Amino acid sequence: MTQPEIVKGKGFEKVDRQKFGHDHLLGTKNLNKDEIEIILDLANYYADRLDDKAFKPDILRGNIILSLFFEDSTRTRTSFEMAAKRLGAEWINIDIAHSSVKKGESLLDTVLTLDAMLRPDAIIMRHSEFAAPDFIAGHVNCPVVNAGDSWREHPTQALLDALTIRRHKGKIEGLNIAICGDVAHSRVASSNMDTLVKLGANVRVIAPPLLMPKKLPHDSIQMFTSMEEGLKDCDIVMMLRLQKERMLDAEIPSEESFFADYGLTLERLDMAKPDALVMHPGPMNRNVEIADEVADDPQRSLILNQVRNGVPTRMAVLDLLLKNK
Ligand code: ASP
Repeated sequence: MTQPEIVKGKGFEKVDRQKFGHDHLLGTKNLNKDEIEIILDLANYYADRLDDKAFKPDILRGNIILSLFFEDSTRTRTSFEMAAKRLGAEWINIDIAHSSVKKGESLLDTVLTLDAMLRPDAIIMRHSEFAAPDFIAGHVNCPVVNAGDSWREHPTQALLDALTIRRHKGKIEGLNIAICGDVAHSRVASSNMDTLVKLGANVRVIAPPLLMPKKLPHDSIQMFTSMEEGLKDCDIVMMLRLQKERMLDAEIPSEESFFADYGLTLERLDMAKPDALVMHPGPMNRNVEIADEVADDPQRSLILNQVRNGVPTRMAVLDLLLKNK
């Protein structure tokens, strides 16, 4: 089985930027379907050109983008940086581990200090506190992009996941998509449930009872506690990392028992549709939530495609927020 052809989308010129009426990207929950599609159309345009090193649209020349990551990151921060640079912007990364935050400076004082000094045109922010980017957006005069806060939202991850599904399945509407594992603590799950339901997918979550959220963002989302039942007829199986940093010890008995009951093996994947594709936002805990044989299967795994699509998705977000200013 080979992965389907990449599906081409609308061109750059055809994207109606004026219909995207937001000053910030703080979550997916305040985006409607049309706005999500505008981002995906533009992201798709950039994705088609990603390998062309000569393609440097330079539309953000003269803009300063400030990166403030109060939590660790590999993929998200690097791909925002790549996106900013491909659009011609200047990228300034603050090394929080060696900043005055460690001397007890408040979040707001840190941000206002940097804002006064750098006059950024956008701030990309990750923080462990619930809605910290929303709080900062209320105090600065430039767009703020949430690069992940607490377990609440990770909008650009959900958007790049939607782009990946669209490019590999040709559509999102009508697909059966399972989001599996530590749903309760995952901001990726939270933003994805919302985005994929708005785009017309049939979303289900599969989790042990203690890792199932108390409330889901849409009533249509089905809940399963067994992988065997939940994977039936799925087109996309999205695995999640066990968020041990947000978890109480009692929530899973052991990694081994979690893998035995909820780990995605090739045998379990056989319960989904024969052409089902697998996703994981990374970082992966191999053989805890996903078996090597699945993660590394080039016919079934979209994991590196997700990473790749992070750059064009973040280019689209920066383009829409900064060019529309
Ligand atoms: N990288 C994603 C996030 O920041 C997923 C994860 O950490 O599990 O939320």
